[in-house]
Amino acid sequence: MANRTKGRPDHPGGRYSVPRVSEAVSMEKIVALCKRRGFIFQSSEIYGGMASVYDYGHYGALLKGNVKAEWWRSVLQERDDVVALDAAILMHPRTWEASGHLAGFTDPLVQCLGECKKRWREDHLREDRPEGELRCPQCGGELTAPRQFNLMFETHVGPVAEEGSTVYLRPETAQGIFVNFKNVLQFARKKPPFGIAQVGKAFRNEITTQSFIFRTYEFEQMEIEFFVPPAEAESWHQRWMEDRMRWYTDLGLRPDHLQLRPHGTDELSHYSSATSDIEYLFPMGWSELEGIANRGDFDLTQHAEYSGEKMDFVDPGSGERYVPHVIEPSAGADRGTLAFMVDAYDEEEVEGRERVVLRLHPRLAPVKAAVLPLVNKDGQPEKARAIYEELRRRIPAEFDTGGSIGKRYRRQDEIGTPWGVTVDHQTMEDDTVTLRDRDSLGQTRIAAGELVAELARRLHDPWTTPKLTTG
Ligand code: ATP
Repeated sequence: MANRTKGRPDHPGGRYSVPRVSEAVSMEKIVALCKRRGFIFQSSEIYGGMASVYDYGHYGALLKGNVKAEWWRSVLQERDDVVALDAAILMHPRTWEASGHLAGFTDPLVQCLGECKKRWREDHLREDRPEGELRCPQCGGELTAPRQFNLMFETHVGPVAEEGSTVYLRPETAQGIFVNFKNVLQFARKKPPFGIAQVGKAFRNEITTQSFIFRTYEFEQMEIEFFVPPAEAESWHQRWMEDRMRWYTDLGLRPDHLQLRPHGTDELSHYSSATSDIEYLFPMGWSELEGIANRGDFDLTQHAEYSGEKMDFVDPGSGERYVPHVIEPSAGADRGTLAFMVDAYDEEEVEGRERVVLRLHPRLAPVKAAVLPLVNKDGQPEKARAIYEELRRRIPAEFDTGGSIGKRYRRQDEIGTPWGVTVDHQTMEDDTVTLRDRDSLGQTRIAAGELVAELARRLHDPWTTPKLTTG
């Protein structure tokens, strides 16, 4: 049997961390689990599938929904200097001229002139070979000279594709925030430093898509544009980097699988004066999870120039007039979901049998508790169903009667359900149930009437959970 750690470890800083048995996980295992348990499917599978486009099934939709909900909780509920926005995907085309995306949102594309004719991002190939001639990584063929390829998807509004009807699927949610800056300033009764947050779809015609949901054509971003007096930009950049790192570790990502990497000057986007990426150690290596940029006054100044509207702020106290600078923590909801799954994935042997377990933070887990009758007779299913119906009014729960109890536990372990509630013969006598902990496998008996309050409490503060006694 593997050296599974029983009980909970100490948790410095109150962050959620559960020791894993297996350290490394391959992307193949994550993809297989996602398919097996209906988290994520290839898009349009019945037609042979569309590469790099994915659909979220039941548990995947719940998990990603929880990632977004935790993000909203931390940026809105737990602070009072950020307001919400939900802007449209389509925007006036001038937006993209002003933002610099029409001219500058490009990646260097090279194509293989040899056998495979594959296309590559030259900057990615340069990471392994900073100087000298590049060859095709697939077939060793010669490559074309790089040409700049714009990543925006173009479409048309109205029945005829004519001049002036071209619009773009937004490649980032940020611009919806900038063009609403004045509206928010007027209605939200905020003044810098304050932020506008939104979650929404973004689209990029990526040259190379890769690694499951890591890089796709269509994805969701969770972005904050935080407007600050110019002199405070650097200190707010620093604060946001710390806050965002803490968000990931509080939700269970191992700190040694996270790093903050400042961009070199040659890497900076056209709008940025400083950017640091939060990187996660994905199965394919360290890769960006979130970018935290100091965008200066670039965006507001550009929109002021292109729209003719003033975008500056006049401090009612001091009378000072300035264009706020912007700090932008920009996270991917899909990449986040992938990182939480990768980090939570574990395999261990329990009583001679292999189990796959997703050690997700309880608040991220798609289902919080599964109510299972030990046997499908003697009134146990009816009793379990009644308990489940009570529980689901407060927390997302499942009721499962299909298969042996061991099989049902395994199913719940694989989708990361933190608590199992088992109804057995004793329940029928004294109205207590067994509460099983996903990670420690410890079991306690608890009065059925106390279950709702106990689980709701654990969900909000998992670290005050009393030590479990193994039974
Ligand atoms: P990369 O260097 O990986 O292409 P980027 O630096 O272009 O990413 P940003 O423009 O900073 O990415 O976007 C912010 C966040 O949006 C990223 O950190 C990532 O989480 C997410 N994101 C960007 N592009 C994609 C994509 N094609 N698929 C999934 N998520 C993405």
